[in-house]
Amino acid sequence: LPTRTKVKVTAMPGDGIGPEVMKATQTVLAAAGAQVEWEEALAGAEAFRRGISTGAPQETLDSIARNGVALKGPLETPVGHGEKSANVALRKTFEMYGNVRPVRELPGIRTPFSGRGIDFVVVRENVEDVYAGIEHMQTPGVAQCLKIITEVGCERIVRLAAAVAEAEGRKKVTVATKANIMKLTEGMLKRVGEAVLKDHPSLAHEHMIVDNCAHQMVIRPEQFDVTVMTNMNGDILSDLAAGLVGGLGVAPSANLGDEAAMFEAVHGSAPQIAGKGIANPTALLLSALMMLRHIGDFATARRIEHALYVTLEEGRDLTGDIARDGEGVPTAQYVDRIIANLG
Ligand code: NAD
Repeated sequence: LPTRTKVKVTAMPGDGIGPEVMKATQTVLAAAGAQVEWEEALAGAEAFRRGISTGAPQETLDSIARNGVALKGPLETPVGHGEKSANVALRKTFEMYGNVRPVRELPGIRTPFSGRGIDFVVVRENVEDVYAGIEHMQTPGVAQCLKIITEVGCERIVRLAAAVAEAEGRKKVTVATKANIMKLTEGMLKRVGEAVLKDHPSLAHEHMIVDNCAHQMVIRPEQFDVTVMTNMNGDILSDLAAGLVGGLGVAPSANLGDEAAMFEAVHGSAPQIAGKGIANPTALLLSALMMLRHIGDFATARRIEHALYVTLEEGRDLTGDIARDGEGVPTAQYVDRIIANLG
């Protein structure tokens, strides 16, 4: 049921175009009457400038811990201010082990794959694998990086993939790994996948070697329903998948864990266009719709989604990156058009 009392959500506008797309998204949600109360929090470049080595101050972490839900703009990875990425710090602090990226054709967004009925979800493990960042020079001229894969990590990511499939009424889970070469690490996801998915008899289960999966995503993307992968494979293939349906400006994501969920666009801070008022807010808006569904406000999410789809289909007042005639309008004008289409 739609929530009647406001749900508190931590909002991190972030860097570059972040504040612009965050404001646009909040404006649309407010116009649709979403029952959300924003708690604004700092993360990213300004936090690094203030000497916070993780890029996320304690007040921000406290806010996310309290609310359990966050919407985040892109954060610049520091060059010369500390070592870490604030994104990785946030995901790790709250053990947000699942990265969920829907890949769905959008009306009016023309791509070489338009009309194929692409509609699948990439579930990427988010905290293990080579992203643990454990690497060193073994001897001069020989670098080594550790690939950490745990049974617990594999089990929870496959369970999440199955839960996503069941919640969305999907039929099949494809576990994509490089188990033929890395029999222990990648092989663990394959084995755990087989064991866990036995508990979900309503879901068809297949294993696919990940390089073939990349090939299949381009050749016949409509065959996929829910895919699950280790961190680096999922990172690469989810970006490939975003490219199939219109690219970074329209690609949303969710970072899910047991303690908190953080929703964000796939794109970065786009410094070249920051401050010009021309950024496309669609990816963050679609991420906010995932967030509304996460907090149970399905009706508002559906209403905004409909207005957005009508706007894209009409093809008037779109930002430059998706405008059909190449003549983009300012972010604010696109937002006004979406709001007008709320009906
Ligand atoms: P980017 O996604 O910022 O930009 C890539 C290209 O896409 C650029 O041409 C940009 O102008 C365009 N673009 C991206 N989002 C757009 C939007 N909403 N509307 C219109 N055009 C858009 O990638 P990058 O240049 O590699 O990274 C810039 C910074 O962002 C780096 O500091 C990087 O570390 C950071 N980054 C952060 C995240 C995150 O916070 N999750 C993700 C990726 C990159």
